[in-house]
Amino acid sequence: MPALSALEERLLPAYRNFPRGRFVSLILVRKTESEAVFRTEGAGEDLSREFVRAGLEDQAVVQRVVITKRKQTAVERRTGRELLRTHGLLYAKEPKAKDAKAEECALNRNNACERCLDCMIYGYAVGGGGAQKSRVLTDDAFSLLPAGAVTGRRTGNALYDNSTMRDPVSGDASQAIYEDPYVRPETHFLEIETLKDVTIGELLYVLGNVLRSTRYGAVSSRQGRVRNRLAALVYSDCELFSNLELTQAVHDQLRAGGAEPEHPLPDDAVLAAVASAVAALLPRVVSAAPTVVDAAGCEAITATVGCLYRDGARVGALLRAVEQAYAVNGSEASSGRAEVLRLLRQAEQEAE
Ligand SMILES: [Zn+2]
Repeated sequence: MPALSALEERLLPAYRNFPRGRFVSLILVRKTESEAVFRTEGAGEDLSREFVRAGLEDQAVVQRVVITKRKQTAVERRTGRELLRTHGLLYAKEPKAKDAKAEECALNRNNACERCLDCMIYGYAVGGGGAQKSRVLTDDAFSLLPAGAVTGRRTGNALYDNSTMRDPVSGDASQAIYEDPYVRPETHFLEIETLKDVTIGELLYVLGNVLRSTRYGAVSSRQGRVRNRLAALVYSDCELFSNLELTQAVHDQLRAGGAEPEHPLPDDAVLAAVASAVAALLPRVVSAAPTVVDAAGCEAITATVGCLYRDGARVGALLRAVEQAYAVNGSEASSGRAEVLRLLRQAEQEAE
């Protein structure tokens, strides 16, 4: 059963200004595929880490590496905005001063256009003007294994043009010796991205951003390669559990066999543990009939999104149809929903 179009009724049919309490949670496994550095401050800072309980049952205290919430969505927003820019779907806002030039919607420049997909989904706040609360709820993500197992420290020195540590002009020895902590390749992080009151088109846009983002953390042109995998997707009428709770429950599942889990963990073991942990945690969530799309369903969703995004013209049509809903707040007839569903079903068939 195609997991997206078949469950589309669990989402909003059209964008509304007032919240309705419809949630869809993307349960993600982020795996580093190269060395990576996640820190809150600039260069020279250590990796972000926190002391927490290892599991819900296992009460040992461990230190875990943290990817802060902002660092995750910022990457995905930029991925999405590149696409919007390509298709001419970022707008300029009328400037307040008469002689000022209208500037295109940009991040962190206090000139949100208030009508593009990014502004409407991830939110914006304009000083003295309008605001849209983000409908993508996130939280810090924790490494599944303790920091000691998944981090290393590298020292090195920067060489000159002549491949030595001596300055070819002055003959002085290089001072550029550095020591950098890093997260090892094949480290798993768990993250739940919760989308609140989104339409099917908006869900497709966010999924595209998540699945197409590959670089996280510092110095991302040379490291920080991450693969995002959709492990489960849950429809509900409230938020589920926290990233930390999920991470702890998965830790307990991995330890159920008796042995301490070791780095690097096989993906299959992580995915299976996530599925069991979600099943164990869901009964504690006070929600009317949450619906879970399992790992196999998520594979199909990933393939569908892949098909959808492979065709540039189709992506453009999709994005325009999603955006149409903002102009006709609440009116379902001209909300672009029919067009989004048509494109989605087409991609679902191709992905089968
Ligand atoms: Zn905008």
